[in-house]
Amino acid sequence: MTHAAASAQRSQVADPGPDPTGAGAPNAAFDGRPGILDRRGRALRDLRISVTDRCNFRCTYCMPAEVFGRDYAFLPHSEVLTYEEIRRLAEIAVELGVRKLRITGGEPLVRKELPDLVAMLAELRTPDGDPVDLTLTTNGSALRSLARPLAEAGLGRITVSLDSLDDATFRRMNGVDFPVSRVLDSIAAAREAGLSPIKVNMVVKRGENEASIVPMARWARDEGLVLRFIEYMDVGTANGWRLDDVVSAAEIVGAIHAELPLEPAAPSYRGEVAGRWRYRDGSGEIGVISSVTQPFCGDCTRARLSAEGKLYTCLFSAVGTDLRAPLRSGASDTDLRAVLERVWNARTDRYSELRTEATSHLPRVEMFALGG
Ligand code: SAM
Ligand code: SF4
Ligand code: SF4
Repeated sequence: MTHAAASAQRSQVADPGPDPTGAGAPNAAFDGRPGILDRRGRALRDLRISVTDRCNFRCTYCMPAEVFGRDYAFLPHSEVLTYEEIRRLAEIAVELGVRKLRITGGEPLVRKELPDLVAMLAELRTPDGDPVDLTLTTNGSALRSLARPLAEAGLGRITVSLDSLDDATFRRMNGVDFPVSRVLDSIAAAREAGLSPIKVNMVVKRGENEASIVPMARWARDEGLVLRFIEYMDVGTANGWRLDDVVSAAEIVGAIHAELPLEPAAPSYRGEVAGRWRYRDGSGEIGVISSVTQPFCGDCTRARLSAEGKLYTCLFSAVGTDLRAPLRSGASDTDLRAVLERVWNARTDRYSELRTEATSHLPRVEMFALGG
């Protein structure tokens, strides 16, 4: 779909207006399971937990080196949530209906003793007694030493970000001259540790790595990895996003289909963000996250907890709700649950349905800060 067509489709989305019921009552309408609903009837199912705002990469589309230089002031340790604080909030979120926890950042593996947090989150159980779906997104720079401790701590699966197999392209995009061979070795380490499935995220940015689309697809298929292409998004404001730099999902799928024929596959569950395409010869599938050209806000069930303890209900939020202050001033679990419920019940976010070139300049929190 073109951007114009997407915009036309977006303009037909009705605003639900004030909720006459006061919302928030447990309701099974979204996906047949109990939980809390927002003002658009979306359940809270996923929590992305940022454990640090720091990163050892300077990806051009996320933390460009010219903006995030040596003197950039990251959060002091005292302002970052402890693992105990994270666990407490995650447990409350699970009680409210969250089924999937994703540890992210910044680069989560730069935070010390991360396997300890994994072990604490892996213990959580849903009200039905099931384990939560626990995963982690990493740039793959440190998995050779950490994959096994993470797996032993209870991490089931993992997502590794990799934007190109071409060393020069990858070194340029990660902004710190990091070699692609080290990320490939990390993926091998994840496999040796038994993490499965291993997903790979590739952000496609025009003029930087379109030529890597087909080689990445071939490689992932041969390696049995689940590759997900991500349209370059206007997260934060530091990356100087322009619509012209977005390579659309249609273009990505078209480039692969020309060499490796694809057909659409049905979503695995309601709220799945990646559009699925499978190879016609049955050799695997790819995902395409088309947040820009085909927004999926109507099914967005995600909240984000930043490293400093703010809760955000949209990737493009300008403000979050501080949970650290109540946590550190003696709030009970009931108090914290009430805050989470209130915030989710009031949620109306649908930024991607409203995006224009102009909205990309509005103030908002950077992705590495609120948890990508
Ligand atoms: N540092 C880890 C990593 O890179 O995997 C985790 C945090 S990162 C913010 C999470 C994901 O967001 C990565 O897969 C990254 O490629 C993606 N991302 C960052 N900036 C993006 C942008 N402007 N558009 C689309 N995806 C982006
Ligand atoms: Fe770091 Fe991940 Fe952002 Fe790259 S995408 S700069 S690895 S947080
Ligand atoms: Fe969800 Fe916000 Fe993204 Fe829409 S723009 S899918 S509401 S995070």
